[in-house]
Amino acid sequence: MTTALTTPRLTLSRMHAPTLHTLPDAIAANVERMRSATDARIMAVVKADGYGLGAGTVARAEIGAEAAWLGVTDAGDAAELRDAGIEVPILAWLNPAGVDVAQVVTDRVDIAVGSVDELRQLIADASSLPGGRVRAHLHMDTGMSRGGVPLQDWAELLRVARSGRDRIEVVGVMGHLPDADAADPAMNAPAVLRMRHARDAVLRAGFGPLIVHLAATSGTLTDQATHFDMVRVGAGLVGIDPSETVSLQGAARLTASVVHSSVVPAGTPIGYGGAYVTERTTRLGVIGVGYADGIPRELASGAAVAIDGIRCPIVGRVSMDQIVVDTGELVVPRGTTAVVFGPEAGAVPTVQEWARWAASIPHTIVTGIGARVERAIA
Ligand SMILES: *Cc1c(COP(=O)(O)O)cnc(C)c1O
Repeated sequence: MTTALTTPRLTLSRMHAPTLHTLPDAIAANVERMRSATDARIMAVVKADGYGLGAGTVARAEIGAEAAWLGVTDAGDAAELRDAGIEVPILAWLNPAGVDVAQVVTDRVDIAVGSVDELRQLIADASSLPGGRVRAHLHMDTGMSRGGVPLQDWAELLRVARSGRDRIEVVGVMGHLPDADAADPAMNAPAVLRMRHARDAVLRAGFGPLIVHLAATSGTLTDQATHFDMVRVGAGLVGIDPSETVSLQGAARLTASVVHSSVVPAGTPIGYGGAYVTERTTRLGVIGVGYADGIPRELASGAAVAIDGIRCPIVGRVSMDQIVVDTGELVVPRGTTAVVFGPEAGAVPTVQEWARWAASIPHTIVTGIGARVERAIA
């Protein structure tokens, strides 16, 4: 009988700080899964601090599973990986603050060039180099209008590249598929054609050999025609399949302690604005993570955490650094561990479920986890 509930005796169980655990074995298994889908080399993308899971940790797991390259957003991220002792080739494709050419040559970091202006700048900067050339990948816009050189500027890009041959070395050609979550080869066909056109023009201009790369996770899993020489896979390696065609291993677990527990009667408003009112006498647990830690504030009903193998719904509004869960008859002393998300099936929510509750995509859940949350390697 719920009316018999009493306040749980406070125990001395140890609290632990909210912690995001990275699971390297799952990442390695996902590299293997990707390899089974392609003959192309695998570039492991570790942008946004390895999709929130720690760029160094994630990269090491991927290299251990024989990912050949790493991809990051900017050269600063690449420098950090070099400082961490990582040796494989690295490509950085967006450098909003420009590039320190001496540093990228020393660090052996390849730079993607997304406009004629950028290429001119890179060549000008590289003129100060005493020795060595900057390794460049020419980025064709294959349909996103986000980055990359538009088709009509490609000839001009190649003319500038030829004029700068003593300062830059063109080693690659890249594109990016706009339909990142579609499992539809027909949708990719125009990008594949444009990629071939880009590659052929670069070869005709006298550059080569080239590494040609277009596909990300979804293309790798669903469309062989997009693979070329290398695939750039990020989400898939941390267990997120945007195409939702295969099942990958979740590589993240977020845990937090119950910091306060209580028994409340029916009719008790919970949290800011009393947005939720209990319908029966029940137990509540307060968990020490909130929207500042990356828990989405707008959540559909059904959002929950797992405690002792039981799914406990989040009730009331998400606060900045705490949430309240209804544990029903389950006694949850202070210090009890709650699993916010994790790879286990059953009671533990997945990041995919969190994405649905937040009307978003799994990427935003894992990359959104805040700095206060500790990191651990499982
Ligand atoms: C993020 C990104 C990727 C990886 O995409 P996933 O879908 O996460 O595999 C590849 N290439 C570029 C240019 C990217 O920005």
